Amino acid sequence: MPLRHVTAARIWTSDSSAPWAKCMTIQNGRIDALDHEAPTAGETLCLDGAWILPGLIDSHLHLLMGGLSLSRLDLSGARSRSEFEQLVEARAATLPQGQWLQAWGWDELHWGGEKPTLDWLRTCGTRPAIAWRCDQHCVLVNHAVVALLQTRGELVPPTGLLFEQVAWNTLGPHIPKTSLALRKQACAEACAHLLSVGVTSAGAMEYLDDIENVLVPCRDGGSLTVRIRATALDRERPLPFSRAGAICGDDTLRVIGFKSFADGTLGSSTASMLENYCDSGGSGALLEHALDGTLTPWMREILAAGYSPSVHAIGDRALAEVLRAALECDPEKLTRFEHAQTIHPETLVHYRDRIISMQPFHKATDAPLARTRLGAHRQNRFFQFREFLRSGACLAFGSDWPIVTADPLEGMRIAITGCALDGKIHGADQNLTPGEAITAYTTGAAKCLGDSRSMGRLSPGSFADFVALDRDPFACDWMNEVPQVVMTVVGGEIRHDARAHEIRP
Ligand SMILES: [Zn+2]
Repeated sequence: MPLRHVTAARIWTSDSSAPWAKCMTIQNGRIDALDHEAPTAGETLCLDGAWILPGLIDSHLHLLMGGLSLSRLDLSGARSRSEFEQLVEARAATLPQGQWLQAWGWDELHWGGEKPTLDWLRTCGTRPAIAWRCDQHCVLVNHAVVALLQTRGELVPPTGLLFEQVAWNTLGPHIPKTSLALRKQACAEACAHLLSVGVTSAGAMEYLDDIENVLVPCRDGGSLTVRIRATALDRERPLPFSRAGAICGDDTLRVIGFKSFADGTLGSSTASMLENYCDSGGSGALLEHALDGTLTPWMREILAAGYSPSVHAIGDRALAEVLRAALECDPEKLTRFEHAQTIHPETLVHYRDRIISMQPFHKATDAPLARTRLGAHRQNRFFQFREFLRSGACLAFGSDWPIVTADPLEGMRIAITGCALDGKIHGADQNLTPGEAITAYTTGAAKCLGDSRSMGRLSPGSFADFVALDRDPFACDWMNEVPQVVMTVVGGEIRHDARAHEIRP
């Protein structure tokens, strides 16, 4: 039953001309009117103990990978080699013979920094096993996978650790593809997971093959319950515009752009820096178009075809390269700067109105290692939320799920408090107010995904997408409490209702 009227303790609309309301009226999946009085007639959903925000938008995640990760072995809790091995052994025991063990999420910083080697996977026996690092830019493979790759003519380092493009290009094609049925199931599970954390729309980084064969059928069958604005990860040339154009877009699913990687990550020391890392000799490396000097023509082509270029750039050198190309060919400022974790202060002035897509939870995971990697003199380049806002940039928040949690309220907590996973507060001068953090997950993210009129706001004509929280996100003490999602609504339909799980005496 679609909702008609909704009342709450308070509704934050994100519309600066009328930021607060008490009641909303919904018609045909969109907001019809907002009011300060409860309606006198008509069916009304009373959420009077809840605070309503526009549906939260995740500007950058990996929907299918996230959905699949929900059922793969999660090693993010491993705090030692023996815990790592025990988790692997326990999972291997549950898998049918010969099936690959696929794990993700390990982080060597959890046990003092020693990188795992292929022996760490020996409890799998002869079964092929792979384990991605938490940043997905490095993968550990076991003896069985090494042997398999060698018979297929691939070179594998003796450590069993593959990085960046070697990981994707050497190993990627040999991993058995998950069946279509399981991929569709993963897509539906990913949506249910996102709704449970208050996300109603997401910018998803996906391959065209998956958009065509998984996302479109899921949309048509009704299991794509979150609005998806997809960016194609396909890096073939010429760019597959006709394939992308053939995907029929609507309010639920639309292809909005193409992605390129300008560098790697801080965690793997592969982000491209202007100066060397402090804890190792190198300065990372540029990748793809940024490496071969074709970033500008690549961007120009995408913009001319009516799409938005999205470029992964974490190091200050990679960001400078993307900025240079954007200054050359993108006066409308449609390019999405993904991650933007380290920025040279002198370049900030050029970011006015440009889209900076950041993931606050990455600050929580990377801040403890940023001090060693970058040194004290470069801490003022790391996660410059406030400096970007001061420069007039459009800050759009997201998660990069499944690299880290998809929970936007956890992301807000990091952006507001600066409190990282080591329990310490990092770069407090860059902390945002709750209002600024919420804006980055609503209006900022809506602009990032190219839909400021319908998304990220609750005003007449916009999507009736909203999240109800159990406490006031503007007033709560984020150091000690995080609001919980009570209900998530998309297009005027309740799609997640935590109240259903409440046990009432
Ligand atoms: Zn990503």
